[in-house]
Amino acid sequence: MGVLVVGSVALDSVQTPFGAVENVLGGSASYFSTAASFFTEVSLVGVVGDDFPSEAIALFREREINIDGLEQVPGRTFRWRGQYRYDLNEAITLETQLNVFESFRPKLPLAYQESPYVFLANIDPELQLDVLNQVKRPKLVACDTMNFWIQGKLEALKAVLQRVDLLTINEGEARQLAQEPNIVKAAHRILDMGPKVLIVKRGEYGALMFSDSTMFFAPAYPLETVYDPTGAGDSFAGGFMGYLANVDAVSEESMRQAIIMGSTMASFNVESFSLERLRTLTYPEIRERFRAFRSLVTFADLPETT
Ligand code: AMP
Repeated sequence: MGVLVVGSVALDSVQTPFGAVENVLGGSASYFSTAASFFTEVSLVGVVGDDFPSEAIALFREREINIDGLEQVPGRTFRWRGQYRYDLNEAITLETQLNVFESFRPKLPLAYQESPYVFLANIDPELQLDVLNQVKRPKLVACDTMNFWIQGKLEALKAVLQRVDLLTINEGEARQLAQEPNIVKAAHRILDMGPKVLIVKRGEYGALMFSDSTMFFAPAYPLETVYDPTGAGDSFAGGFMGYLANVDAVSEESMRQAIIMGSTMASFNVESFSLERLRTLTYPEIRERFRAFRSLVTFADLPETT
């Protein structure tokens, strides 16, 4: 089994109301892989520059993430600078430097091509397509994207959407992509663009999963300590895809469990900056919080008569 991911591996500079960090490990593929590595084998495709710190490579190795597909080339690593105000649901991008991603063309190692579960994390949709063209018959292909690509590469993004089974996207970006303010209508418009399943991420308000005929809601875990929401979406996707690959089943039931696992991993991730919380996480802690999610939303039915 296992999951293949292509996405950004970044040096992030982030400011939240609770602190600031400069040039720390980030990127969609880094958060995704670390979260997924608790459940399954992960193969990472991406690129970094010669300024990429060896401690970050060490973290991938600690989590036993396969980085044969992570190229290191001359130049500067992708950089993202962002800010959150008191509304932690909205990331404000201050600067995006593509750097080595500008001339990157992924070449999948042979062993990666048979991966049954594929996640096209947030990155240039043309690179997402390059990866799709190199994998053989995956069981499930999911992807993520953001406003930067909806604005800048809409045609390539639409080509990706026609070829994926599932899309995860933030609520505001779902509205932007569908050009529709009502989220239920927007969801159905996006499903018409290709994916069979859509997961709309709503930050501290949880996530909604839509298919043509079903709807499911998962809350976010109410936490007292939220330091940095960066990577919440990607660690959500890592928990979701990692869990599906672990049980090796794609059904409404397994996807509902997987959404709770995604929400579980995201809830840990936001407790500290960069990958610090995921790095020290243990499986018993994951199981305990997964169960806490269950009790958060379990309630008795009404009696037959009142
Ligand atoms: P999220 O899970 O949505 O909070 O994603 C946060 C990560 O996305 C950060 O670590 C950034 O490095 C990365 N990121 C930000 N902008 C982009 C972009 N345009 N393409 C790829 N990755 C990005």
